[in-house]
Amino acid sequence: MAFAITQNCCSDASCVSVCPVNCIHPTPDEPGFGTTELLHVDPATCIDCGACADACPVDAIAPVWLLRPDQLVFAQVNAEYFTLPDAPASPVWDPPRFPGVDLAAIGRLDVAVVGTGPAAVYATQAVLRATDARVTLIDRLTTTGGLARYGVAPDHPGTRRVLESTAAVLRHPRVTLRAGVEVGRDVTPAQLAAEFDAVLYATGAAGDRSLGVPGEDLPGSVAARSVVHWYTGHPEAAPVDLAQVERVVVVGTGNVALDIARMLTGDPGRLAGTDTAAAAVAALRASAVREVVLVARRSAVDAACSRSELRALTHLSGVQVQLAGEPPVGAEPGTLGALFADLDRYAGDLAAAPAPGRRIVFAFDRTPEAVVGDGRVAGLRVRDVDGDTTTVTADLVVRAIGHVGVELPGLPHDPATGRVPNDAGRVTGADGRPVPGTYVVGWAKRGPSGGIGANRSDAEETVQALLADAAAGLVGRPRPRR
Ligand SMILES: Cc1cc2nc3c(=O)[nH]c(=O)nc-3n(C[C@H](O)[C@H](O)[C@H](O)COP(=O)(O)OP(=O)(O)OC[C@H]3O[C@@H](n4cnc5c(N)ncnc54)[C@H](O)[C@@H]3O)c2cc1C
Ligand code: SF4
Ligand code: SF4
Repeated sequence: MAFAITQNCCSDASCVSVCPVNCIHPTPDEPGFGTTELLHVDPATCIDCGACADACPVDAIAPVWLLRPDQLVFAQVNAEYFTLPDAPASPVWDPPRFPGVDLAAIGRLDVAVVGTGPAAVYATQAVLRATDARVTLIDRLTTTGGLARYGVAPDHPGTRRVLESTAAVLRHPRVTLRAGVEVGRDVTPAQLAAEFDAVLYATGAAGDRSLGVPGEDLPGSVAARSVVHWYTGHPEAAPVDLAQVERVVVVGTGNVALDIARMLTGDPGRLAGTDTAAAAVAALRASAVREVVLVARRSAVDAACSRSELRALTHLSGVQVQLAGEPPVGAEPGTLGALFADLDRYAGDLAAAPAPGRRIVFAFDRTPEAVVGDGRVAGLRVRDVDGDTTTVTADLVVRAIGHVGVELPGLPHDPATGRVPNDAGRVTGADGRPVPGTYVVGWAKRGPSGGIGANRSDAEETVQALLADAAAGLVGRPRPRR
């Protein structure tokens, strides 16, 4: 019957290396890795051993015969991948790879990793695996996990299981945690550089992209981050009062926008049994929200969400998922465009109060022009492709248009990209040359895109650079110990 990979997959490829018959593709060395929404099990080759399910950090793999009704489509999604014209033949074995550095030449290193999100955890695992280094993890918060705790939606318990990897790393005898220490405020990068042989920055991207339209700063207009912080129980979260909010407009159609729409229309009784913050569950019980409208400049075929997340939305109980405006025509079956074309049409009036019931509405091809309101948000003015403007009335406007890296004082920063400038993970200074012993990984390195799994190969690259430098004697100089 075979196993199948489902919606939760974050493409970290942990399953690939444990499969005894190499039937999970694309592998990190094959075209499509990093761009497919998930990896796929070839049902013709799978021998039902279950090794992949044990290795998966986010509970994404299950035997086909145990899939829930809403997951059954993934048996087909997995199988169809191997019918594509350029699908990898299975089983195909990649040539063996060996570390290109002389590990014996590396003395015992003291490494600091700044951050405890997925990138920090993957980097720490890679350092611990390859060396006998001691690793000190540093985080500005007193709780660990980064966006795996304060980003991943609390009603996605499978994905949040990745936090178990964080816990396992923290239990490692060569790991020390310094929580509640903000680098740049409590300690400078120069001080860390003096204390440790190497410092890896895994500080993510803590800023929010702005819409750049008038009214964006009105009360009631917020960045996605503040809503996400509120429902995940981030220690710095501000309360969100939904008692007077009937319609929420979310600008954006990426997976974070879908998370927010799902959480704001979710059944508080169901959410109370998840990791959702108690204060958010209480606010959702008192919520007047009937409609969440996701507005996007782009068209439905170019929506930024994944098909898996859109499919999951259509299985919500008690919530209608609808499309405002004309459906996309001629979309290939199974594509995002076809999934949107299959949605029911929205029959309400976006300029008036929402009708009874609970619904999520996608409104594509509308460019936000202004957040309007007299002292407080009353709506979002949008221009359609014909040049006509309308105001979508709303009591809350959420900007879910992405993150951006912020400068950490004392560390190089590229304001144009929001990233820490680097060459394959080696932080580079104003002269373009590597800053000795200083490395970067994750969203701080490559910008705020890619799921949890993308940080694994990214971390491997950075740690390989560190090991090569250590083997070349560029880090790990003898120094007085603290
Ligand atoms: C809302 C949201 C939902 C997401 N949901 C999913 C999902 O369901 N599945 C999925 O695969 N991916 C998801 N992602 C993407 C995923 O979270 C990222 O790929 C991943 O978290 C990036 O890891 P990171 O370690 O680079 O950054 P982060 O996870 O942001 O970690 C950065 C860490 O650095 C710490 N830090 C920052 N600055 C300092 C400082 N100066 N000193 C000390 N510590 C500092 C922070 O406290 C934090 O712990 C989501 C992203 C967002 C924004
Ligand atoms: S069940 Fe075994 S054979 Fe099948 S995909 Fe998983 S690891 Fe490979
Ligand atoms: S999350 Fe990782 S281990 Fe799990 S199915 Fe996806 S690639 Fe495999």
